[in-house]
Amino acid sequence: MTASRVDLRAIRAFVFDVDGTLILSESPDWAGAVPLPGAVELLQWLREHRYPFALFTSGSSHVPEVYAARLRAAGLPVEDRQVITTGVTAAEIIATEYPGRPVYVLGEEGTIAPLRARGIPVVDGTAGERAEVVLVGWSRSVTYDQLDIACRAVWNGADLLVTSAARAFVSKRGLRPGWSWSIAVAIAETTGKRPRVVGKPSVEALRAVARLLGADVGTVAVVGDDPDLELRMGLEAGAPTIQVRTGRGREAIETPEIGDLVVDGVEELLALLQETRSQEGAADR
Ligand SMILES: [Mg+2]
Repeated sequence: MTASRVDLRAIRAFVFDVDGTLILSESPDWAGAVPLPGAVELLQWLREHRYPFALFTSGSSHVPEVYAARLRAAGLPVEDRQVITTGVTAAEIIATEYPGRPVYVLGEEGTIAPLRARGIPVVDGTAGERAEVVLVGWSRSVTYDQLDIACRAVWNGADLLVTSAARAFVSKRGLRPGWSWSIAVAIAETTGKRPRVVGKPSVEALRAVARLLGADVGTVAVVGDDPDLELRMGLEAGAPTIQVRTGRGREAIETPEIGDLVVDGVEELLALLQETRSQEGAADR
């Protein structure tokens, strides 16, 4: 552990990155995921001590229930509602900032279902031209007609939201292009409208997660391995950040240590939380 700028006693809730922080996985869908040391015990401890927590992922291809089931199969004690996808943060931001406004989606079930679950009107076909929000998520089947409707909606004044700003992601086959961002950039280039990111590392995404947890963003600890994604998001939002050296920190490339607290992994974080708890208990006596 390096010097800490975090007061663990002041933390009210936790937001975890998943890949490289709680699990290691060969597939972006977390099939066959393996929990990292201490991950199961840490989540169990947080449950026992009644800390609200969420697992925030950049994925938007599936609904949270699918991801949660795979994490439970790996042994992690998480409920469906504790898995927050970028479809969920998109829905929270749209429900808050564009209540009742029609949304046109270029995306699949993982992006559309969380909107419908919040009662957000999702419009199809040419009705999409009159949408007030265009939301781009993961979809491998976007057609020219859909791109045409999305551009028309934006020309008619709709805002352009996108679930991810990732240009590319790493897969078993090497680097592959990030779909959502590529499509959003195409619409932006055509219409001149700047896309607004509703996933990591957007500060608004973290504020949305904090609202869902019922906590003030300044008291929500962001735990993750990626300095460009969740850690940057936490730092910019003024949330306490806890960086783990698992995941990206294990790569041969030098990973900058920017977290307010840097630990080897979640196992060490659990030990620190337990130590803080026992000191508090001793102080109370
Ligand atoms: Mg990660």
